[in-house]
Amino acid sequence: MQQLLKLPSGTIPYTLKISAKRRTIGLRIDDHGLTVHIPKRIHWPHVEQLLLEKSAWIIEKLSERENRPEPVTWQDGTTLFYLGEPIVLSLRQDARNRQPVLDGESLVVAQPDITNTAVIQRKVSQWFAKHAIEDFRRRVELLAAKLGVPMPSVFLSNAKTRWGSCNSRGEIRLHWRLIQAPPHIIQYVVAHELAHLKEMNHSPKFWAWVEKLCPEYAKSRNELKAMSADLHLV
Ligand SMILES: [Zn+2]
Repeated sequence: MQQLLKLPSGTIPYTLKISAKRRTIGLRIDDHGLTVHIPKRIHWPHVEQLLLEKSAWIIEKLSERENRPEPVTWQDGTTLFYLGEPIVLSLRQDARNRQPVLDGESLVVAQPDITNTAVIQRKVSQWFAKHAIEDFRRRVELLAAKLGVPMPSVFLSNAKTRWGSCNSRGEIRLHWRLIQAPPHIIQYVVAHELAHLKEMNHSPKFWAWVEKLCPEYAKSRNELKAMSADLHLV
């Protein structure tokens, strides 16, 4: 049963479900919005009172759901990010399966079946990875010279929880998805991993090396944390 919860700040529609087996009132927020489960025998003002008491929580949970980033749709016109700048996915029907081409602000993907989103996603990811390794190597080379260390081996990673890593053999791994981020963010991750060639820990000495390579590292680090979920959508 559809109902309206009237609050001073506006009204919230919700679904009311009455259950003979229930003894308590239950609130649930999911993709269908708010659902209120109530026992069969209950004094209605009691329900209204509880909803009013819980209204701040309800509003907060509903807005969290609304602001959750949507997964990428892989359709013509979808906006992607490359080095922090928006690029628009442009799908073109073509007899041949072609590699993506960046034409101005459009990433043109041509293939026989433009509804095959799995193929589009794979091709775009490969395009990002190809540009990522070139971009990352150039940055590592510049910052390694600044740090006075030999150029380390650089590899791409697809790790779930970290943007970069550096092992005891001095190899650096950087996540290919970072290529979507603005250059100063990539610069911070590169500086961080390179600084591990000097200090294999996160001591004040380590952060001093990071700061030497990337003076605004603290700001970039926070920005990266805030955008991490979005970078993982592609
Ligand atoms: Zn580290």
